[in-house]
Amino acid sequence: MTDLIKLSLTETIKGLKDKKFSAVEITDAYLTQMDVHKHLNAYITETPELARELAKAADKKLANGEDGLLLGAPIAVKDLFCTQGVRTTAASRMLENFVPEYESTVTAKMFAEGAVMLGKSNLDQFAMGSANITSHFNNVSNPWKRRHADGIMVPGGSSGGSAAATAAFLCAGSLGTDTGGSIRQPASFTGTVGMKPTYGRCSRWGTVAFASSLDQAGPICRTVADSALLLQAIAGFDAKDSTSVKKDVPDWSGRLKADVKGLKIGVPKEYRPDNLPDDIAALWDQGASWLRDAGAEIVEITLPHTEYALPTYYIVAPAEASSNLARYDGVRYGHRTGEKVSSLDEMYERTRAEGFGDEVKRRIMIGTYVLSHGYYDAYYKQAQKIRALIAQDFASAFEQVDAILTPTAPSAAFGMNEQMSNVEMYLNDVFTVPASLAGVPGISVPAGFDGAGLPLGLQVLTKAWDEQTCLNVAAVIEQAANLDLTPEGY
Ligand code: GLN
Repeated sequence: MTDLIKLSLTETIKGLKDKKFSAVEITDAYLTQMDVHKHLNAYITETPELARELAKAADKKLANGEDGLLLGAPIAVKDLFCTQGVRTTAASRMLENFVPEYESTVTAKMFAEGAVMLGKSNLDQFAMGSANITSHFNNVSNPWKRRHADGIMVPGGSSGGSAAATAAFLCAGSLGTDTGGSIRQPASFTGTVGMKPTYGRCSRWGTVAFASSLDQAGPICRTVADSALLLQAIAGFDAKDSTSVKKDVPDWSGRLKADVKGLKIGVPKEYRPDNLPDDIAALWDQGASWLRDAGAEIVEITLPHTEYALPTYYIVAPAEASSNLARYDGVRYGHRTGEKVSSLDEMYERTRAEGFGDEVKRRIMIGTYVLSHGYYDAYYKQAQKIRALIAQDFASAFEQVDAILTPTAPSAAFGMNEQMSNVEMYLNDVFTVPASLAGVPGISVPAGFDGAGLPLGLQVLTKAWDEQTCLNVAAVIEQAANLDLTPEGY
């Protein structure tokens, strides 16, 4: 029966509908796997009782022949989505004991479709990071290791817990958020499929805010079909989020077709820096030739402002973060210092010093600096202008091509103990950040392995609102690659 956990999300839902097994059975199977692999630290809060309750309710609905896109499916939820009555920490000490009174729109939609929540998955603190090593609740381990080596690898970040849980069969699929790559990069590092939809596709209401003009929810799953389904369940207009866009949610899952015949696919020359590792360059070429074999035309394109994307992101994102995180002041909710203080200012200072981790503090300082009176024009305003040029690059490219193919990240997962400077860490987002700034959808699909046997993803980008083409192209890569994505020992 433990093989139940090896089913894809799509197979799980079909099996439940066909009464091959019950929601309680498959939920228990996942809860057991979560117990066995607690060492990965993929979850901050496990919710076994709630999961069993939800599973029982799903079984009743299944017995009554009721429908739901996710009916009975066990899902992990990044601990950045507010869940009513279930602690929501953003992996920070600041929110260590925060139990929301309300449900985020994305999780409400997921529950409305019948999903069973297994728990709240670990992440980088306030979703800031690329390795899931900034969580107040300790690091997450990647279930993948280098061949013949024992070193623990990072799962990527910030949705590292969701990605590790999905890869290690600790859930049938998971929810993440992506501000500059936090769904796509961990998907690449863990051999899973991660999709960031068009900005405005999913409601941000009830999601702890990092950088509001960039944050988007999305799925991390084991297959492209699963990602289409999970995204379909959580997407859609929400009047409570002013940046949510009034557009119908297409039947991505029903219309998913591994077909690129007649499509033009662009390969941007700026994404091939001199120091791009050979196996990643080779994988990228391989991906292009799979698509060519499947009937697409591959063309070289240019996204001329790519080199400015990272510096732009690391101005815009911290600026918005510094403003969003101002609310954590020890008064309204969240942590408050227990020390004796002699003034209100001292209370704020101590509260924030204790509540935020180093990376969060760094971002707040960068953010307040670039927004400050003397530097606003020099940094923030410039960054906004360059952001517009980057979006224009994509708009011009998509006049020429239907999709863009790139590597997801410039490396495979790295070792937990491999020292890296902050800037080196920021460089990890080099291929994901431009699409975030432009607001276009992107997916990372596993396409191969590096020399040490670690998974590598390729990224497909399409124009805004064309998630379908993005999914279809990814499905062709998935089929052509035909990989066994079970980490050893799982
Ligand atoms: N790694 C990037 C950062 O640290 C992206 C994070 C994200 O997408 N949430 O900001």
